[in-house]
Amino acid sequence: MTMDVATNLQYMRRTIKQASEKSKRNPDEITIIGVTKYVTIERTREAIQAGIKNLGENRPDGFMEKYNHIGIDAKWHFIGTLQSRKVKDVINKVDVVHSLDRLSLVKEINKRATEQKDCFVQVNVSGEESKHGLRPDEVIPFIKSIERYENVHVVGLMTMAPHLEDKERLREFFQTLADLRNTIKHKKLAHAPCEYLSMGMSNDYEIAIEEGATHIRIGSDLVGQ
Ligand SMILES: *Cc1c(COP(=O)(O)O)cnc(C)c1O
Repeated sequence: MTMDVATNLQYMRRTIKQASEKSKRNPDEITIIGVTKYVTIERTREAIQAGIKNLGENRPDGFMEKYNHIGIDAKWHFIGTLQSRKVKDVINKVDVVHSLDRLSLVKEINKRATEQKDCFVQVNVSGEESKHGLRPDEVIPFIKSIERYENVHVVGLMTMAPHLEDKERLREFFQTLADLRNTIKHKKLAHAPCEYLSMGMSNDYEIAIEEGATHIRIGSDLVGQ
């Protein structure tokens, strides 16, 4: 990566603005999460300097290393698979969990978190074997089943789209997630307001924004690989 983060961010903000205009959205409602899993502490600091306030890590070890250096200078998003035995190490340091995908994880977060934790339910919209997350038809029963776990607050849905050249096919996956979010949001559940959509990565964030993404998770195009 030769470009500085500030330059990448400037370019990205232009793209976000264009995608927002195209879909008649307000670009201010889109949160950029800088995914720092591939890069050094120095590069992570550069991202914060450039104005990125939200950072994402996908492994407990990588997160802890960054957190130990950077701490509360960033808002931390845990975006990877979270093993139940790792919950106690990270849960009171991360601000948002994007990978809620099973009841055992909900129970462990509920037990270990010292206050209510904002979580996204991860959905496997494409049905690929390699992807984590619930099937779309499992999401509403799952959300209903976790009402009693008061430290788990479902703020939205998250997905990872497959790598596809076919942009219209990609768009359908994002629409499926947006439709599901709308259905849940309209239920006005106290434990699951489900207002947000965490979708869009370096190769697909423009389409994700056009389809309603509120949180985009960007590694390669922003801080580097
Ligand atoms: C790595 C990762 C990203 C960022 O991917 P890029 O293609 O580098 O932007 C986003 N979301 C999740 C869950 C990831 O693991």
